[in-house]
Amino acid sequence: MAKQSLGYVELEWTCPFCNTRNPGRVKVCTNCGAPQPKDVKFHQAAEDKIVEDKEGLEMAQSGPDIYCPFCNTRNPGTAVKCSRCGGDLTGGEKRESGEVIGAQQTGRAPDITCEYCGTVNPATNTKCKNCGSPLGVTARPQPAAAAPVKMNPKFMIIGAIVLLLICGALSMFFLQGTRTESNIARVSNVNWKRSIVIMGYAPVTYSNWIDQIPQDAEVSSCSERERGRSSFPSDNSQQVCGTPYLVDQGSGFAEMVQDCEYIVYDDYCQYSVIELQPVGVINDTGTDMNPLWPETRLQQDQQLGERSETYQITFNVDGKDVVYETTNPDEYMQFTPGSSWELEINGFGSIVDIQPAP
Ligand SMILES: [Zn+2]
Ligand SMILES: [Zn+2]
Ligand SMILES: [Zn+2]
Repeated sequence: MAKQSLGYVELEWTCPFCNTRNPGRVKVCTNCGAPQPKDVKFHQAAEDKIVEDKEGLEMAQSGPDIYCPFCNTRNPGTAVKCSRCGGDLTGGEKRESGEVIGAQQTGRAPDITCEYCGTVNPATNTKCKNCGSPLGVTARPQPAAAAPVKMNPKFMIIGAIVLLLICGALSMFFLQGTRTESNIARVSNVNWKRSIVIMGYAPVTYSNWIDQIPQDAEVSSCSERERGRSSFPSDNSQQVCGTPYLVDQGSGFAEMVQDCEYIVYDDYCQYSVIELQPVGVINDTGTDMNPLWPETRLQQDQQLGERSETYQITFNVDGKDVVYETTNPDEYMQFTPGSSWELEINGFGSIVDIQPAP
């Protein structure tokens, strides 16, 4: 993030003796004449106006004020000798600076009501237009805090019931799965299926940044997208800035700055490259005990891919069909149609174990 200066605004300080607001550059209270105390805090004025007068700009840019180590007088940061006693300022204490005072206010602060006579005054007034009393610091509206989220007791009860139901369903499921029954069954039907994937060369579509695309690719379409953020401008970038805010300069003035960065755009493209990939599958099926691999006739540039096989055995259990599936051909070969087996069947009707019939 790069900082950008938008200029300087004059701050205010409030006299602790008579509560009068004074412009940041003033050394003594305009109402009671008391000198500005060393520990007084500068605050945001009723209106943020960019300083344009030469004297104000000089003060704003001269750095934190220095307090004379001999007579405590406030001197500008560029001064070498005290303006009041002529003392050397080398060992003098500098005002604190660099603190963020607040966000830029685009309008004037809200009106102030006089504590003494109740008259409403514009925020820029330092004295009541009716009784002349000092008006003090403007109350600024504070951003509303987010309300804490409270749990509704009704929802908590519903939640507990739902949780109980889920637990019940899970334990039922578990019981069904573990309870088994032994049955004598006969093989009524068998069937097999064997498949081979055919691999060939064909275009595949991908997308990436224009400089990441392989050389032999065919680019179909591109569009501009945000690729990243940078502190520096580049060929294809756009500046974005945050809300300006005030930074205390320790001189009665604040610098108005904003944090900016650049959104960098680039072409994001769709492209295709020719790659070896699955282009088809050939199958062979049968209902006998002689499973075969399908015959393949490959075209030029094609090759054989992954093979897969599944075998289904249908058992007759008390007049009902129960199907068992395996991918093991040796296991399949045992289940000659008409042979008898002892099956363990669980609560869901699935076969969990098969043994030869006693
Ligand atoms: Zn005063
Ligand atoms: Zn002095
Ligand atoms: Zn008043």
